[in-house]
Amino acid sequence: MVQFANEPINQKLQFNYLEQFPTSLLDIEAHNLSSHLKAPTLFYIKGHQQQPLFITVLLHGNEITGWQAIQKFLRKYQDTPLPRSILLFVGNIDAAKVNVRTLSNQLDYNRAWPQTENPHAPEAILMQSVYEKVKNFVPFASIDIHNNTGNNPFYGCVNELDDNFLYLASLFSRTIIFFKRPKGVQSLALSKLCPAVTIECGRVGNETAIEKTVHFLEAVLKLSSFPKHPVRDQDIDLIQTQAIIKLPKEASFSFDGSDADFCFRQDLDHLNFSSLAPGTSLGKLGGAQNHHLIIHPGKDGANANGYFDYKEGQICLMKPAISAMLTLDPNAIRSDCLGYLMNRIKRD
Ligand SMILES: [Zn+2]
Repeated sequence: MVQFANEPINQKLQFNYLEQFPTSLLDIEAHNLSSHLKAPTLFYIKGHQQQPLFITVLLHGNEITGWQAIQKFLRKYQDTPLPRSILLFVGNIDAAKVNVRTLSNQLDYNRAWPQTENPHAPEAILMQSVYEKVKNFVPFASIDIHNNTGNNPFYGCVNELDDNFLYLASLFSRTIIFFKRPKGVQSLALSKLCPAVTIECGRVGNETAIEKTVHFLEAVLKLSSFPKHPVRDQDIDLIQTQAIIKLPKEASFSFDGSDADFCFRQDLDHLNFSSLAPGTSLGKLGGAQNHHLIIHPGKDGANANGYFDYKEGQICLMKPAISAMLTLDPNAIRSDCLGYLMNRIKRD
């Protein structure tokens, strides 16, 4: 019988801390984890080098590639010691049970980390305590693993332009997004402790994504230290979030041409990671044509005005931008956003 050391947070939310990883979990699918773990769980798995790599999976319950990759990875190392210790946090098992990103009564597990705009939410208190625990271990690096719903390549996200952060991200993909908002994401919080990256593994169910993530984890775990030489500009495509596109709560939307406040083009997510010229249309306004997109600045000081024009009901981009993470998924649109507008940046 495995003994859990409970870390009491409050009456509602607590995480378990376990100084081993039961092999029985290697065959448990994400949606069944809540029958095996009583709460979000932090596992310490000892490896050759002591300073641990912190890995988080299932902060979004329906993004299961990270969990599948961890299982595959740990299976490989069942009879061999890990090159480096791992701290693994398995997050929103309740949302995973019903295959959703976040339950309707929860704060998003990836908007709840230190610096969150909702620091008093039970989820924020939970993440603060996980963060404190991880901080005590002085982590070597941090990796948060996600999927997304639109048509996107594999890419990494960093919140600092430091060479170690970029090197870490480049081990996964040459496409790297730099952002400072939204607040409360894991990598932004962990950036205060160690090089941190969020990796986006495309859609759920892609075997290549699992394989690629396993290789990435292995590459990072085998790093004895970060290289002394700087990351070369030609080795990465560095882009930065300028604006976050949201829809008014009360507005309706469609992607199939049916009438709605926003009638988006059917292939909207195929615009992801392409450079869009001014004049590109995302679709047209329908209904009473009385709604406009809500554009939030994607970074401090960014000018979120003037991105769109609605002449003759066309939703028309007015500035050059790289669109990313545009999604057709109604849940993602309602609970998060329609997508992001970015531009290419150079380091100083
Ligand atoms: Zn996610």
